[in-house]
Amino acid sequence: MNREIARMTWKEFEEAKRTKTLIIPVGSLEQHGYHLPMETDVIISSGLAKVLAEKIDGIVAPPVNYGYKSQPNSGGGPLFPGTVDLNGDTLVRLVYDMLCEFARDGVKKIFISNGHFENEAFLVEAVDLATRQYDIHVVLASWWDQIPSDMVEKCFEEVPFPGWALEHAAVTETSMVMYFTPELVHMDRFVEEEFRKPGLYHDYPIKPGIVPASGVLATARTSSRGKGALLVESITDAYAGICREAFKSYDDTL
Ligand code: ZN
Ligand code: MN
Repeated sequence: MNREIARMTWKEFEEAKRTKTLIIPVGSLEQHGYHLPMETDVIISSGLAKVLAEKIDGIVAPPVNYGYKSQPNSGGGPLFPGTVDLNGDTLVRLVYDMLCEFARDGVKKIFISNGHFENEAFLVEAVDLATRQYDIHVVLASWWDQIPSDMVEKCFEEVPFPGWALEHAAVTETSMVMYFTPELVHMDRFVEEEFRKPGLYHDYPIKPGIVPASGVLATARTSSRGKGALLVESITDAYAGICREAFKSYDDTL
């Protein structure tokens, strides 16, 4: 069954939106080291959205392919060619407009699958503004928040877990891209560098040379497709549970 709304006719969408949860993936165009594509955050948020849609009988909107400004301590920062950073108000207005349009179309249940660390506050803002204005129920979740500690242990048996901000182009993202689009992963190009713990502050203007040359913030060496499969299953199970809980009141009324 086709669950992607962009591939539906408007009549198919009109029928589907009456009962189904609409899932919106949000990513970024951002460097992900020498070994991963720049649309990594889109591949992961969209891939998770498609697996989730199967689990909850949902439908999937086209992804938001650009995100808020990459930060040195969580995405490598803006100084890499190809990293395209939206201003905060641009992302807020874009997602706000999308949510309002879907609300006016009669969509009731929306799940936002976020794949880019820096997006979160701006997505919360868009969701808050849209839900103040329209009778629409929106849940926003980021994949790294859904991973239980036993799964973290399984993914980091060989190397220490660096924390989610530094898991940029590292074991978890690389493993999930290996799962969804293995042809886009170039492990032969991965370079082990000196990965330092960054300071817990923002230092502007952002200067060159404060992150490793490749743009990777922690090792990706121990990534595997098997870890990717485990992560995808665990995250989408958690997402499905969130949707069932958040949207349960709609199931009797629709
Ligand atoms: Zn990423
Ligand atoms: Mn990112």
